[in-house]
Formats: sequence, C-alpha cells, structure tokens
Amino acid sequence: MENNLTVYNTLSRRKEKFEPMNPPFVGMYVCGPTVYGDAHLGHARPAITFDLVYRYLKHIGYKVRYVRNITDVGHLEHDADSGEDKIGKKARLEQLEPMEVVQYFTDRYHQNMSALNVLSPSIEPKASGHIIEQIEMIRKILEAGFAYEVNGSVYFDVVKYNQNHNYGILSGRVLEDLMTATRELEGQEEKHNPADFALWKKAQPEHIMRWPSPWSDGFPGWHLECSAMGTRYLGEQFDIHGGGMDLLFPHHESEIAQSVAANSKAPVKYWLHNNMITLNGQKMGKSLGNAISLFDFFAGNHNLLQQPYSPITIRFFILQAHYRSTLDFSNEALQAADKGLKKLMAALATLDKLAVSEKSTSNITELRKKCYDAMNDDFNSPIAIAQLFEGVRIINSVKNKKETITDTDLEILKKTMIDFVFEILGLKQEEAGRSNELIDELMGTILILRQKARESKDFATSDLIRDHLAKLNIIVKDTKEGVEWSLEE
Ligand code: ZN
Repeated sequence: MENNLTVYNTLSRRKEKFEPMNPPFVGMYVCGPTVYGDAHLGHARPAITFDLVYRYLKHIGYKVRYVRNITDVGHLEHDADSGEDKIGKKARLEQLEPMEVVQYFTDRYHQNMSALNVLSPSIEPKASGHIIEQIEMIRKILEAGFAYEVNGSVYFDVVKYNQNHNYGILSGRVLEDLMTATRELEGQEEKHNPADFALWKKAQPEHIMRWPSPWSDGFPGWHLECSAMGTRYLGEQFDIHGGGMDLLFPHHESEIAQSVAANSKAPVKYWLHNNMITLNGQKMGKSLGNAISLFDFFAGNHNLLQQPYSPITIRFFILQAHYRSTLDFSNEALQAADKGLKKLMAALATLDKLAVSEKSTSNITELRKKCYDAMNDDFNSPIAIAQLFEGVRIINSVKNKKETITDTDLEILKKTMIDFVFEILGLKQEEAGRSNELIDELMGTILILRQKARESKDFATSDLIRDHLAKLNIIVKDTKEGVEWSLEE
C-alpha cells in the first residue's frame, strides 16, 4: 500500500513524512508503567495511543517491533535522584519480596490492557532483567567523559555534554534556567551541577532493591533503563519513541543525552508524545489524589463516577480526541461515548442485512479514502471516527430505504467499517452482543405469554404485559406477519 503517512515529530516540532530507516521494518519504543500500583485513566491514554499507532502501521504493511518496558527496579519515581523507592516501600509495608509487588501489579496491568483491547507489545522487557546492559552503558558514558563518580554513585555531566551537544533539543528547555532551579533534595550535594542526573545510585541501607556494580551496590537511574533496553532490542538508532508528554522532560531529554554520550548517535528519528487527560481541567495523577483506577472505572466504584464504564467505552472516549489534544474526563463525555459506540455497533450489525440496488446514492470510495486520509494525517482518529459515522448514516438510510447502494459499494463499505472499527481503532462488541441476543429471546418468551393470554381472552394479563413493556419504552405492534416489538428511542 502506498505510504502517505505524516507524523508530528516533537523533536522537529512539525509534521514529517513517515520514512522508517529500514522499511518495511519499524522499531518502536514506548515507556511503560511503573508497577507499584494499579493503572489509572491517565495510563490508558499512552497505552491506547501507541496501540493505535502500532495497529495502523501494521495495517498499512509495516513489520513493527514494538517494545514497551516495565519499570520495576524501584527507582525513585519520576526523579531518579530523590524521594523514596515506591516498590520497595510497598514491599516493606506489606511484608512482601519486591518482585511479588512487581508481579502482582504487572498482572493487573495486563488485565487492564487486555480489557481495553490493547495488543501486547512484541517485547516487554523489565528494567530489573537488564542491569548488565545498564551498567555497560554507564561504563561507555564514563569512558566518553560525560559522567563522574562520587561516593559510589555516578552522575551524568549535563554541563559538559551541553558544551558540544544540546541538552534541551527535545523539550526546548535552556540549561541556564535548569541550573538555577535548585532543589533541596537528597544527593544534590554530590552533583557538580543541579541539572546533572543519576545514572547509578549507591543504595542506602534501607533500600531493598539493589544490584552489585563496579561503583557500589545500588540501582540504576530511571532514565537509563529506556536507553539501555531501547538499544538492546531496537539498535542504537530506531524509528519511533513514544510516551506521555509528562515524560518529555527530564526523562526523554535525558534518554537522548545518554544515547548520544554512549553511542555518539541520536537514538530516535520520530519522537511522539500524547497529551494528558484532565479531570475537571486539572491534571490527573496518583500524587494529586484524583486518579481513578481503571478497575474502578469498569466497576463504577468511585464517588466521581455516576455509573460503571466499560473498557471499550473508555477506549472509544480516548480515540474520539486526537492524541496530541488534551482530553477532559467527565461523566457526560463518557456517557456520550457509550451512546456513540452503541450506535456504531448497531449499524455494523445491520450491514449484512442491507438490500443492494443498481445505483449508489453516496460516494463510498470517497468515504474510504477520507478514513485513510485522516489516519495518514498524524493518526487523526477523531476525523476517522467522524467518517465512520457518515458510514453509519449511510447504512441507516439504506436500511430505511431512503438511500440505495450497489453490490460493489456495499462490499467496500463493509470492508471500510470492519477494517477501521475493529482492526485499526481496536473497538469490539462487548457484552451488549450477548445481552442483545438474550433480550431477543426473553422478548420472544414474553410475547408468547401475551399471545396465550389473548387467545384465552385474559385481557387483564395481556394489558398488564403491554403496560409493563411500555414503561420500558418497548412498543409492541400487531402486524399481518405477526407480533413485532421495538425499542422507542
Ligand atoms: Zn522511558
């Protein structure tokens, strides 16, 4: 298939034609979860965004090696130099071996991903399984002169690196500004400059997760694992690196610096970042206390939730916004997504029952092209979804005999709807499919009882049945062909 894909590259700050270095192969690395708690709605967005990217690249013919890591070495959350080790803390509080915490939350993360219909990556490496690669990378950075050791810890020398390279190339941050932003944090006194970051930290006695190294018994800095595992599985240079915008600085900026320092090469051609999900306009996060776990969303188990929301409703809600736009959570928005999804699935269910004619009243080839145009424009899923709803409109018009469609066009319409809804957007028919069947069967039973009552002139019972159904907005009609029922909109 002809490749017209353009992607917005955070590095160049513009849309670029997508040209992988070694087609048809594409290497893609996405920062995965830190496994010391359940994933919340905010975690669903990068997972679904890069699932969409993965699915679309495969759909247009690329062979994608997709690496999404598990952060499990008990680094110090989002700041490699300070704070406390969250996995170690959880293990200590619950009297568990840290790897029991890691396994438990990794399993639960996988349950969430499977419910959201997020495909498994090609490789899911754990940081704890790649300590050797990380030590090796530190050694190379030290050898190149871009790091220094103090008391068993190794720090990246940002100032030295910035003399001939640009620490800020991705985020646009300026080193001078970073230097003045001093913070009173543990380990700061060891650094030559406040902007320097840890590659290896000597473990304090209470730190449970530790490994031997040439410098001390300790643990790697957080930024390092992604550089080391990306290099290990995708090479010194690969095509796509993705993640949430919150990882842009310092995490991804530091990944670039580490790889350039160790390998003398910029590691990534296209940097892709998804925007955040907000809650009533506020950032959502564990530390802010407003993060609702995905399990709670699925069960409706939180005072901010008016009802449970199914995983596919959440997936559809996320795909209805472009990945680079902000997305604000609200019950209304999720309920609207749920309604839209049901409408889409209902139309798909009638596709096989449509009658064909001599002539098509709508341009189906054009509709299919517009779906691809949307996805080729930096994975614009909301525009693609709008086109699919044009498809829904056509399906319903043909069904209601207000429009006509030819045999050939019906096949194109079917293929477009199925390719985009299921394969590319990764939506699926949930329980509704089964419960619709069940409702059909139950209604059949009720209507037999009503018919029996009428035959034996028990009008009180048949009226009772009719009135109860009316309360549920179910309209029963007696026609020449028999009894029909429908749900009033
Ligand atoms: Zn990462």
